[in-house]
This record gives sequence, C-alpha cells and structure tokens, in this order.
Amino acid sequence: MCYAIPGLVKGFDGKHAIVDYFGEEKKALSELLDLKAGDYVYAQGGFVITRVSAEEAGKTLETWKDLFFELKEIDQKASRLSPWGAARYDHVRGLMERALSGGKLTQAEILGLLNIADPREQEFLLSAANHIRQEHHSNSCCVHGIIEISNMCAEQCHYCGISAWNTKIPRYRLSKEEILSAVQGAVDGHGFKALVLQSGEDAGRSVDELADIIRAIKKRFGVLIFVSFGEVGEEGLEKLYAAGARGVLLRFETSNAELFKKLHPGSTLERRLAEIRKAHELGFLIVTGALVGLPGQTQQDVARDIELAGELNVEMLSLGPFLPHPATPLANIPAPDMADLIQTLAVARFALPAQVKILVTTGLETLSPDARRAGLMAGANSVMLNVTPVDKRPLYDIYPKRAHQDDPLAEQITATIALLESIGRAPTDLSVGAG
Ligand code: SAM
Repeated sequence: MCYAIPGLVKGFDGKHAIVDYFGEEKKALSELLDLKAGDYVYAQGGFVITRVSAEEAGKTLETWKDLFFELKEIDQKASRLSPWGAARYDHVRGLMERALSGGKLTQAEILGLLNIADPREQEFLLSAANHIRQEHHSNSCCVHGIIEISNMCAEQCHYCGISAWNTKIPRYRLSKEEILSAVQGAVDGHGFKALVLQSGEDAGRSVDELADIIRAIKKRFGVLIFVSFGEVGEEGLEKLYAAGARGVLLRFETSNAELFKKLHPGSTLERRLAEIRKAHELGFLIVTGALVGLPGQTQQDVARDIELAGELNVEMLSLGPFLPHPATPLANIPAPDMADLIQTLAVARFALPAQVKILVTTGLETLSPDARRAGLMAGANSVMLNVTPVDKRPLYDIYPKRAHQDDPLAEQITATIALLESIGRAPTDLSVGAG
C-alpha cells in the first residue's frame, strides 16, 4: 500500500528539487545533500522525505500509470459545476470565481456564505467548493496517520475528555520502543509517508525526550513528522525542528479571545497564536483550525476562525465539531449538525488560499458515517487514519465513540482507498510544493 507516488528528480531550483509525476512537475525542498537529477523520491508536504530505488519506483509507477489518469477523469467529471446552479446563484458563483482567481473574501462575505439556508443554494455552494478544490489541487488527497503517544494531560480545557477534568480514565504513555514500533507498522507495513505524533500536555515527558524520539524515527524511517503536543514554547519548537519534525498540528480552537480564556483556564489566545506564528517562522508546516459548535460561539466567530487560519499561513485546515464528553464541564452541550460543519468546510475552501488543504476530521466523521465522503465532496482533500495501537485508542478519550476507534489499520486503509477511488481521488500529496 503506497500513499505517495515516487517522482523523478528532473533538476533543481535553488534548494528545491523539481520532481516529475507522469509529466506534472512539482517543487519540493530537499534536505538530502547528495540528491541528483535522475533519482526517484517520495515528497510530502513540500519536502523530499526519502529516495527510492529506480526498481522500486518503476514497480509502483507501473501500477499507477493508468489509474493515475483514470482517477483524475472521474474526479473532473464529479466536480463539474452545475450550469443550473451557476445561473441561479450568481452571488455564490461570483465569489467562487474570485476564489479561483486568487482573490480574498471579506469577513462579511464569509459570514454570508455560512448563513446560506436555502437547501438548493447550499447544494450549489458545496459543489462550487468541490470545483475550487479540484481546480487548485486536482485529485490529490492527503492520507496522514496519527499516533496518540500519551493521554496524560495537565490542562483543563473545558471540552476535552483527556484533560485533567477526567479523573476516571486510566492514563498511558507509550514508551519510545512502542512509538517506534507503531511508526514501523505504519511506514514499513502500510506505506505511510506522513505521521502526526500527538499527546495531551504531558508534563512527564520533556521536549528533549520527544526530540530524541523524533531523531530516532527520522534516522530509521523516511517519513514526514508533524508534532501535536500542545504549546511547547519557542525553545521547545526549535528542539523539535532540529530533531527533524517539519509540521505542527496545533489548533487555536476559537478566534474569540474571551471564549478561549473561558475554555482554557490559565491560557490565552494571544499565547496560542504566538506559538503558531513562531512555528511557522521556524519553517514548520502549520495544521491549525478551530472547534465549531462551542457554547457562546457565534457565526461571526466561525467566519473569523476561517479568516484567522488563513492569516496563520495554514497548510492544512483542521476544523472539527465540538463533541460533548460526560466528564467535562460541557457535558450537556449538544454537538452541532453534520450539515453545518460540511457547509463550514465548503466556505473555508472559498475563503482560504489555493494551496491550503482541508481535513475531514475524525470528529466530523464521528457525527455520521457519511461525513468523510460529504466533506471530500465539499472542498476537503485530506483524511487522517488512526495508527495508535488498538488497545490504547479507547483511552485517548477526547470525546465519546470516536469514529474508527476499533477499526484495525488495515481495514481503515482498505475502506479509505475504496472511498477515494470511488470519487476519483488519489491518495498522494502531489499538489503540495507546487511552484
Ligand atoms: N495537547 C494537544 C493540543 O492541545 O493541541 C493535542 C491533543 S488535543 C486532545 C487535540 C485536539 O482534540 C484539540 O485541538 C481539540 O480541538 C480536540 N478535542 C478535544 N476535546 C474535544 C471534543 N470534546 N470535541 C472535539 N474535539 C476535541
């Protein structure tokens, strides 16, 4: 199983390798000092992550050569705009055309799209978002894995089931060996090229120890590593980058500073944003976003959430529903509707810069088994599979009944690939690093 197609290095533009995929050229930053034209590589997130032998590349490319174009054709057909909708909803069409030509939407325009309530106009909005996604990213879909390395957490986020509010769940921390074994299963066993390591804010493991684990992973595996350990401070970020991590997954959770303060005792939005900005400055790819459906949150806040993600140079948007957990202060707040979330993703596709990927979060998938397909057909182009050892997954209890919690990895992969192929998507990261 392969999540990325090997590309042929054609040449260089400064530190960027120019990589060819069946005639499409993409740029990717190379940290492999001896890389040369004629080599085959895997690139992820705009980084060359590993070289691959010509023989192995040849085999993979042989299986992909027809499928690559067949999938593109299916996707192209599925993302055509309905002339009926385009003629009828010219306001939405106008904003879509602006998005397609790289123009920005105002906050009022974002809010206007979020507030569309007519079902046929909503339908057009989602299909227009899918059209924008196809124009900007073609049929590529990121498939990253996530390993939840510890559920220990010292924070008191009011919504989170692994926060200190939950005194009932057993706590775990995977050892370095257990993490390496999970990475091996994902990378060698299943071909993952990008992995997120996530945990609660675990005071029992220092940044130096985390950096040591990342160094060990990078030494053994050609994989792009995202870190998601909460706020680690500037020095912590520097250590993680030096160890080889190249992405940070850290949501700002809400752009409303008052609401942020209420939900995160002892913390501020300002500090969270400073951390995300610093991570970007250091060269990390930024995965960020917010929770939708928080008590006290307005549509205006959600419009601002989308705008703020763009200002933070988001590489991949992670916007998911708030889901109530019984052991938290927000136990009695209902979750939002799946349809509202899908509309929000579609609006984000209109409002965010062309290169931004949009994730169908596990939270969204938890709202409905149809959510993954619906999200991918409304502007999203990324999914994350749970690579955590199966026995630990129920303990990473951020909200109840998480989608795919009990699904073995091989099953998740088969189902994901079947879905992607049915809608013409290729599980690759081809669009990233495009020049
Ligand atoms: N400690 C890191 C952090 O705070 O970013 C990573 C772990 S934290 C559990 C990962 C994400 O889980 C958070 O960004 C938050 O949005 C999400 N999360 C926690 N509780 C949730 C809930 N009840 N519903 C939906 N998402 C939740």
